[in-house]
Parts: sequence; structure tokens; C-alpha cells
Amino acid sequence: MKERTTSISSFNKVLALVALVATVFMVLFSTFMLSEHAAHHCNHADSCPICTLIVQCQQNIKTIGSGLIVATALFVLAYVIVKAEDSFEYQSVQTTLVSQKIRLDN
Ligand SMILES: [Zn+2]
Repeated sequence: MKERTTSISSFNKVLALVALVATVFMVLFSTFMLSEHAAHHCNHADSCPICTLIVQCQQNIKTIGSGLIVATALFVLAYVIVKAEDSFEYQSVQTTLVSQKIRLDN
């Protein structure tokens, strides 16, 4: 059972790595294509393949960008919660003479 869990975990790591590499490649490719055709002056009104490519690249970057913002916000929130929980130390708000170790027989 443990071997199966380990193989699933390593499969998930490989899958996450492939997704990460594909995402980075898509962002880099889209950015490269946008910068390559930044000075494009369109002569065709409807069926320009370069304009279609530019629109698709803009959509790719917009989609990835908005997803990354949400993922980053969730990661930061989870990180802050975990760190706050780790650094939290329980301290009683009720202080008594006994809890302060004050002798009462003086
Ligand atoms: Zn065009």
C-alpha cells in the first residue's frame, strides 16, 4: 500500500512538473510572439493570421496571469495562516496570584 502511495505521489510530482514547464513555455512563447509582431500593421481586414495569433497570445497571457494572481493570493494566505499558527503561543488571559507564583503567607 505504501509503495502505491509513493508511486502516485511521484506521478503527481511528474505531472505537476510537466504542467509547470508547459505553462512557462506557453507564456514565454506568447510573449515572444507578441514582441516579434508588436509593429504589425494590418492590411487585411478580416483574415489576418498574424492578428489572430496576437489575439490568441494575449488571451493566453491574460488567462495565465489571472490564474496566477488567484493561485499566488491563495498561497500567500495559506502561508500566513500556517506561520501565524506556528508562532502562536497559548497564554492564559486570566492571571491570578497563584498563577503569578506570589506567596500569600507573608
Ligand atoms: Zn493583421
